[in-house]
Amino acid sequence: MLQVLNPATEETVATVPAATPADVDAAVARAAAAQRGWAAAAPADRARLLRRFAAVVDDHVEELARLEVTEAGHTIGNARWEAGNVRDLLDFAAGGVERLNGRQIPVAGGLDITILEPLGVVGVIAPWNFPMPIAAWATAPALAAGNAVILKPAEATPLTALRLAELALEAGLPEGLFQVLPGTGPVAGNALVEHPGIAKIVFTGSTGVGKSIMAKCADQVKRVTLELGGKSPNIVFADADLEAAAAAAPMSFLDNSGQDCCARTRILVQRGAYDRFLELLTPAIEEIVVGDPADERTQMGPLISRAQLDRVRSYVPEHAAGIRGKAPEGPGFWFPPTVLTGVPEDARCAVEEIFGPVAVVLPFEDEADAIRLANATEYGLSGSIWTRDVGRALRASRAVRAGNLSVNSHSSVRYWTPFGGYQQSGLGRELGPDALTAFTETKNVFISTEGPAL
Ligand code: NAD
Repeated sequence: MLQVLNPATEETVATVPAATPADVDAAVARAAAAQRGWAAAAPADRARLLRRFAAVVDDHVEELARLEVTEAGHTIGNARWEAGNVRDLLDFAAGGVERLNGRQIPVAGGLDITILEPLGVVGVIAPWNFPMPIAAWATAPALAAGNAVILKPAEATPLTALRLAELALEAGLPEGLFQVLPGTGPVAGNALVEHPGIAKIVFTGSTGVGKSIMAKCADQVKRVTLELGGKSPNIVFADADLEAAAAAAPMSFLDNSGQDCCARTRILVQRGAYDRFLELLTPAIEEIVVGDPADERTQMGPLISRAQLDRVRSYVPEHAAGIRGKAPEGPGFWFPPTVLTGVPEDARCAVEEIFGPVAVVLPFEDEADAIRLANATEYGLSGSIWTRDVGRALRASRAVRAGNLSVNSHSSVRYWTPFGGYQQSGLGRELGPDALTAFTETKNVFISTEGPAL
């Protein structure tokens, strides 16, 4: 049994049965049967059903959002956005069904065409930090491309996923096409990875588990997309609009209590602007409203679990120099917004993903030094560059090894632009104009016009 706790109160919200390998076997058989009919259906019919699914999700945005506040401690504002994001992902993917075109390639003596075929049954293994959007990033395009999906949500956050599976049936999606199997990683997750009936695994989670999944997928040359950890830089050049950069910095690593793979947790500030930037950043951090996630005014809620709280604490010495915000006392997994200063570049807190509301500020000398520091990581997911110099913004954007960069802003994830990591932040891309093709095989067919060879 999985125990689901409310992270803001530590009360048990639900207990959910954990899937066994036998449950995974049965789900794969159901999914394979459903997928054959789904792939054979007219594209317009598949698109219509996905749009209907999007509409049903839209009717339940508030309910799904409240559920996410309860099981994940997300602020209600974020949770509404997340449920709306599922709707938008389904709508966007539905628009791709009838545009999943192959190509015609010139070849002498006949006609050469490519066909984009569905993979079959796709296994999606999701983390607890953004349970709904991350599940839908893979599920929506996989379904649109003609696949079936089995989703294994994280142990701590199965409830919104289970509700989405009910809504899919309510919308008229065929039984078995989209199934949700809550369970533990080592049992249910692993059974999906090892199952010969699963054609592809989309895994979002920690880099360590991602590596072990990639190694296991190699056994069957199973397709795999990995969305892993990050330690993203926020580079502030001295010529930037410092007021704007300091105002935007707090929520770039405090959103979702810092449990965000794109969190800009390494704030790199050019030496000449360092003191002024910290002067501006201090009140911005101290004013962040941390508390009941169901309260509309709250900007930051609790961490997901006691284990996560202990992990975050282990990175922050009691009397560390820096800036500290406020956090509630009493039950719940609370940690205050924290900015550490005066730490060495290679300190544990400066190089490892903490996955909590903690950032470090490090000074740099010039553009070359900024790029060196930004790239001094095994990760490469996101990053931001603050400068008024367009040439520098472009040079830095080219030089930072990361999949998702933003200039004078911190935006990085939109369902219609590609998303994914360099280096150990991942493999493959999700979202964007090519989202559906990640769930297809390309088949090349040559048709001779010369008649059968004698
Ligand atoms: P995690 O790796 O512990 O778990 C993620 C999922 O994998 C869960 O569903 C878990 O049950 C499952 N799992 C665990 N062990 C498994 C195994 N042996 N076989 C199969 N499945 C297994 O990660 P987490 O703590 O839930 O999530 C936090 C991590 O996710 C952070 O590192 C964060 O950066 C990363 N993340 C990355 C992205 C991205 O898009 N790059 C997005 C969100 C989170």
